[in-house]
Amino acid sequence: MHYVNIRKGSFIERPNRFIAYIDIEGKKETVHVKNTGRCAELLVPGAPVYVQETDNPARKTRWDLIAVEKGKRMVNMDSQIPNKLVAEWLREGNLFEEITRIRPEYTYGSSRFDLYVEADGKKIFIEVKGVTLEEDGVVRFPDAPSERAVKHVEELKTAVREGYEAYVFFVVQMKGVRYFTPNMDTHPAFGEALFRASKAGVHILAYDCETGKDYIHIEDEVPVAFADTMEDKIGEETYLAETVVEWYRANKRELPWRKEPDAYRVWVSEIMLQQTRVEAVKSYYERFLRELPTVKDLAEAEEDKLLKLWEGLGYYNRARNMQKAARQIMIDCHGVFPDTYEEILSLKGIGNYTAGAISAFAYGLPKPAVDGNVLRVISRLTGSREDIAKQSVRKRVEDMLEPIIPKDAASDFNQGLIELGAIVCVPNGEPKCGECPLSCFCEARRQGTASEIPVKSRGKARRIEERTVFLFKDGKKLAIRKRPPKGLLASLYEFPNVQGSMSMEEAVAYSKGIGLMPVRMKALGNAKHIFSHIEWHMTGYEIIVDELERTNEKGFLFIRAEEIGEEYPVPSAFEYYKRYAGTI
Ligand code: SF4
Repeated sequence: MHYVNIRKGSFIERPNRFIAYIDIEGKKETVHVKNTGRCAELLVPGAPVYVQETDNPARKTRWDLIAVEKGKRMVNMDSQIPNKLVAEWLREGNLFEEITRIRPEYTYGSSRFDLYVEADGKKIFIEVKGVTLEEDGVVRFPDAPSERAVKHVEELKTAVREGYEAYVFFVVQMKGVRYFTPNMDTHPAFGEALFRASKAGVHILAYDCETGKDYIHIEDEVPVAFADTMEDKIGEETYLAETVVEWYRANKRELPWRKEPDAYRVWVSEIMLQQTRVEAVKSYYERFLRELPTVKDLAEAEEDKLLKLWEGLGYYNRARNMQKAARQIMIDCHGVFPDTYEEILSLKGIGNYTAGAISAFAYGLPKPAVDGNVLRVISRLTGSREDIAKQSVRKRVEDMLEPIIPKDAASDFNQGLIELGAIVCVPNGEPKCGECPLSCFCEARRQGTASEIPVKSRGKARRIEERTVFLFKDGKKLAIRKRPPKGLLASLYEFPNVQGSMSMEEAVAYSKGIGLMPVRMKALGNAKHIFSHIEWHMTGYEIIVDELERTNEKGFLFIRAEEIGEEYPVPSAFEYYKRYAGTI
């Protein structure tokens, strides 16, 4: 790239960022300075400078500052030239094999990048930065804080996530330097952003230039160095943690338990969310908190009321254990929810995951909350084929995560990993690696093994139990009974049922055997319910009898069908048959 109409002068002073006074052949001229950076080490009184006479008659100043001699070094100061140089250099066949398109000034997100290139089948953004700051052969950028530069670098990271190739290209506007490094003195945030971008797959390049008073062109690659302290400060793990936090804050779903997350609310939601889908939990959660808004209310609740609030969520022991823990808190902690991990972990029904979740979400303590989502994400990130059903593997993941939890963002980090597993690194179907903020770290993605990971051994096969369910009715009421206080579905209400799959004749005989005379009967069909270790395969009959009270079976209760919804919690195992409760 050549300049014409170049004249030599001597620098006098710079009254503001945009102009300088230059002595040209004994006359003090006002010269336009395109480079609005400080350039304090370059523009010193008496420094030989080179200026170009403008051919634009409308311009107030006749001259543009192009280059300055700094000792034996010629430094080009034209801030408009680096973009043109890079575009020209690319067209000459550098960096890419076959360029099909180059467009300057391309808008992407809320940034405008210097160059958009289509080459070798790739879509590429290049942000170009001119570098003039040099000391002892080390060149640095920026020479003044630049929030815009930070924003550009951040946007390039996003572009990489979305499948673009991205570059920050530092054009060192001089020759003979040793290496480039971001200027941590003037703007550490830029250096850190650049370092993170490099870790996220943004290419950071620096090239020096052969410069003269009237020419400049790109020459040789210059090493890019980040300070060792930066490696310590923003090592890979720290970067990973910050990426998770950043992603979570931008992408989290609005969920009722994320508003005002005090310990009690976190606890209730986390217990409900075990084994149950988020969508299904929402209405249960809101109703539960309305009815039992405090630990005290939970501790004092009637068992039937508690089970009724839990009806449909299954795993009723979770609710019973919560009540035991609430009573523990009332006695041992005067009703105040404990605020240390160890104390929380000591509560009935609370394991490592829930203790970690309450500690981190409610109190901001840097404790890991490792659930199935986190195990999946971490297994894929590390390419681990260890069995995530094993306690030892879970423990290892907890130990690995604990030291990297950001002290000031423990909640968002933990929730970010969980959320990532729930909506991006999903359990069923292909993970959405293209949307994943951690894809640049991911071993499974690199190896193409995401669909095989995690490995989870199957537990013992479930026992199949055949049962026959009866809806005994007499025109006004139907029969239910309370289950025993211990064991499966303890203390809940059920339709009478017996082991085995009965034919219609056997069902009639059974009915008569317990003193109930069938008037009419109907087969209701089959239903299945899966518990953790058992599967119920059920056959059902509706049997209209002359009078329910005549039964000799102990423990039957005769109720109106509406009361099932109001007072008597009937678990979802009987969901299929509940729909027939109200019909006669
Ligand atoms: Fe999961 Fe894919 Fe992200 Fe890896 S890149 S963590 S497999 S979504």
